[in-house]
Amino acid sequence: MSTWDLDGLRADIEAINFSLLDLLSRRARLVTEIHAIKSARNIPLFVPAREEQMLERLVARNEGPFSDAAIRGLFKEIFRASLDLQETQAAQTLMVGRERRPHDLVITVKDAVIGGPAPVLIAGPCSVEGEEQMEQVARLCVETGVKLLRGGAFKPRSSPYSFQGLGARGLELLARTARRHGLATVTEVTDTRLVGLVAEHADVLQIGARNMHNVELLREVGRTRRPVLLKRGLAATIEEFLFSAEYIIAEGNDQIILCERGIRTYETATRNTLDIAAVPLLRQRSYLPVVVDVSHAAGRRDILAPLGRAALAAGASGLMVEVHPAPHLARSDAEQQLDFAAFRCFCAATGFTPPA
Ligand code: PEP
Ligand code: MN
Repeated sequence: MSTWDLDGLRADIEAINFSLLDLLSRRARLVTEIHAIKSARNIPLFVPAREEQMLERLVARNEGPFSDAAIRGLFKEIFRASLDLQETQAAQTLMVGRERRPHDLVITVKDAVIGGPAPVLIAGPCSVEGEEQMEQVARLCVETGVKLLRGGAFKPRSSPYSFQGLGARGLELLARTARRHGLATVTEVTDTRLVGLVAEHADVLQIGARNMHNVELLREVGRTRRPVLLKRGLAATIEEFLFSAEYIIAEGNDQIILCERGIRTYETATRNTLDIAAVPLLRQRSYLPVVVDVSHAAGRRDILAPLGRAALAAGASGLMVEVHPAPHLARSDAEQQLDFAAFRCFCAATGFTPPA
């Protein structure tokens, strides 16, 4: 074979490479189109049976010189790259993503409007502890214009030896007290088996930080038609936080409130580090309302007002704060709950003015 021939053959190979590249790019564009249709219809991206069928047809047509195994290997790579493309696309066009909806989502719960022009305050004790405690807090809410009463009945405590909440009795107590005073309730649901019960009693289902990655729980609250307050995980990135919201919306529930509540860092002066940047970033990436839980972020009561002001300045649609008639006697988070006088100061300092 002459040198000239070799050059010619090399040129042929190069031309085939380019043709293959063009074909692969065309294939990838079709994959992208299929992805758009699949995501609009909620069809799974990866269907192993369909992939196997395509491989079988290719092998049946293969006349060599590549072995069937080599053909399988080559096409599996192409399929893999196509799926990666679809998954990247899906991650970039989340159902909770801003691209899907230019306007902010407004969630109405009884008399409270979350994500509207005015910020909301969610207040109440860390845990529901008893009739008298809840009655006093509810009265304070009415006095200060708070429309969303919080209180944990099922408490996912860091230590199994700490108070775990009053459970179903606490749930009923919270609901009864709120009803008497015309308030809406926010309470945590910790387990898929409890979603039905909690949804029966509460107006907003809270997913706690420790459960943000609990996919089955996210799906289960996604199947209800109750608004969900989704807290950011202790060590979750903003992307992971939005993925968790995506699990909820994928089941048909778009009534999701994102709650920044501080993340774990090396800092020990606060219980967690309030990630203020998360507020504008979440709002940039999603149309869902964002609220900030200053109490769990700080883990102390002396800096809640400036944190609240910072959160609102950063674009939060509301704040969550823990308040207790006698914080030093509280059965959980005693060191961070505000007493009533401090709560009134907090409201004044963060611009929540009592009703006239
Ligand atoms: C709570 O709000 O009661 C709570 C336990 O908060 P987090 O899940 O953010 O720790
Ligand atoms: Mn608490």
